[in-house]
Amino acid sequence: MSHDLYREQLLDHYHNPANYGVLEPADVDIEMDNPTCGDRIHLTARLDSEGHIAAVMFEGQGCVVSMAAASMLTEALVGKAPEEVNRMGLEDVEEMMGGVKLSMGRVKCAMLSLNATKQGLRDAGKLA
Ligand code: ZN
Repeated sequence: MSHDLYREQLLDHYHNPANYGVLEPADVDIEMDNPTCGDRIHLTARLDSEGHIAAVMFEGQGCVVSMAAASMLTEALVGKAPEEVNRMGLEDVEEMMGGVKLSMGRVKCAMLSLNATKQGLRDAGKLA
């Protein structure tokens, strides 16, 4: 994907985020921030009877990369088991964001929502 298309896709998610809001009640409920950039996220998720992610919502404030990544992640997480989420890493996030190679300064922004999801699953006792 060209650089411009990548930017456009990020901006589109930033301005029109998917799954923006709070799930109540939720099995996973976590707030996390990225102090190096000032990004903040509140992520809630519900699991189905098999323990897979049935729905995810997020709200927060931050840079385009952090918010666009959160929006894309909420779409990518549905149907995944906690162990599958736990195996996801930077490469998966970069691929999710259109195959971009993130600069060092942007990695924490892009990973915030995934890290929050993993921590939230752990806090909820869904991951060892
Ligand atoms: Zn950021």
